[in-house]
Amino acid sequence: MLRLFALITMSLVGNAQPFDLVLQGGRVMDPESGLDAIRNVGIRQGKIAAISARSLKGTKTIDVKGLVVSPGFIDLHSHGQTPENYRLKARDGVTTALELEIGVSAVPPWYQAREGKALINYGASIGHVPARMTVMKDTGDWLPRDNAITKVATREEQIAIRELLRQGLRDGGLGIGFGFSYTPKAGTEELQELFELAGQTKSPTFIHMGHGTLGEPGIAAALHEVIAMAAVTGAPVHVVHIGASSTSKFDLAMKIIADARAHGIDITTEAYPYIAGMTRLETAIFDAGFQEKLGITYKDMMWVETGERLTAETFEKYRKQGGLVATFTNTEEMIRKVVAHPNVMIASDGIMEDGKGHPRAAGSYARVLGLYVREQQLLTLMDAIRKMSLMPAQRLETVSPTMRNKGRIKVGADADLAVFDAVKVIDRATYEKANLPSEGIPFVLVGGELVVRNGQIVEGVTPGKGIRTR
Ligand SMILES: [Zn+2]
Repeated sequence: MLRLFALITMSLVGNAQPFDLVLQGGRVMDPESGLDAIRNVGIRQGKIAAISARSLKGTKTIDVKGLVVSPGFIDLHSHGQTPENYRLKARDGVTTALELEIGVSAVPPWYQAREGKALINYGASIGHVPARMTVMKDTGDWLPRDNAITKVATREEQIAIRELLRQGLRDGGLGIGFGFSYTPKAGTEELQELFELAGQTKSPTFIHMGHGTLGEPGIAAALHEVIAMAAVTGAPVHVVHIGASSTSKFDLAMKIIADARAHGIDITTEAYPYIAGMTRLETAIFDAGFQEKLGITYKDMMWVETGERLTAETFEKYRKQGGLVATFTNTEEMIRKVVAHPNVMIASDGIMEDGKGHPRAAGSYARVLGLYVREQQLLTLMDAIRKMSLMPAQRLETVSPTMRNKGRIKVGADADLAVFDAVKVIDRATYEKANLPSEGIPFVLVGGELVVRNGQIVEGVTPGKGIRTR
């Protein structure tokens, strides 16, 4: 009897224990359940432990009245994987940034380099592009610049590339990244076998579609290639930056994707909310004939280092040197359609290097919330949140069970949260000053720990964890 009494007392005390942190009085928005109401959120041991209209007792309490409490944003396309990039991402509400399109090779050292040191969650796919660069002995830095562009792989090289990908998946890589535009000599035989590997292991593929297929006339052909390989092999496919790849043919691209889905193909897509793209000038994207393929001339290209527009002369000079170039290929009218489309996730495709880069690295998420939701009212706040958190989590959760606890606000989910002011949130990054952090996102939590407090980075904290398939 005494023992029972002691047990009851202990359990009562246990329940009365304060939460580690309570977010009090915010507008809690969960895209999975549809909850959109004033609630208190109790956080314990990095997890959401209570969502309640009643008041909750916390060791620490933050008053978030008047602010939206959203799942932290999940960026499926973040090339920037350095502390500089993580700080900008956190200020933009991003709690998980993943390098899936280009990916990495090899996988274990990449994760080890970030273990215990990252501000936000991170992860990568095993990449066909870096694996091909390794096997073909390409001299490029990050993206191919010679052998991986110009050479057809021998049978031995094809097998070596496939084994690197197989090992990368075994090592926990989040699927397989492909950049067809960067490896124009990787033919059907090479790719078909790699898609078979993805199909056998049900690993998602993240695909920058083929060279010569940007915008008109090739978007349908580019999608048909990807969809055919998915149909034949069972590989799940995620097409990156559909806005930049389809430009004026966006409606056609989305119709093909919807039709393929209706016929059982697992295909998804994403886009960044800007009219310009960015990549390295020395890559195969800018081989002869690029003007026609991309529908641009030199003056539509900006050399990132200096901000100058290119000419025929500076194009040649900088292409030899190598570096980042912005390409103004799209229109604001098209971007509005892309951002509002219910089947398009938001992903940044961003990379920042010593303060230089594309504004999408710093501003993609606040830009959607401020410019396209609030100012232009192209989509609802809940739909925007879904495209930035739940949909990317769902893309990965069949291979990475930890993603089932991200992208939603529910009891038991990871306390990865973005707390923003729907009236003030806005991007500030521009093509000229790309590393200006977003505004109006006063609190961001990763695993229950504040990484942004009162709109500023919390120094010295590293709650970010590696996201793997296991
Ligand atoms: Zn990219």
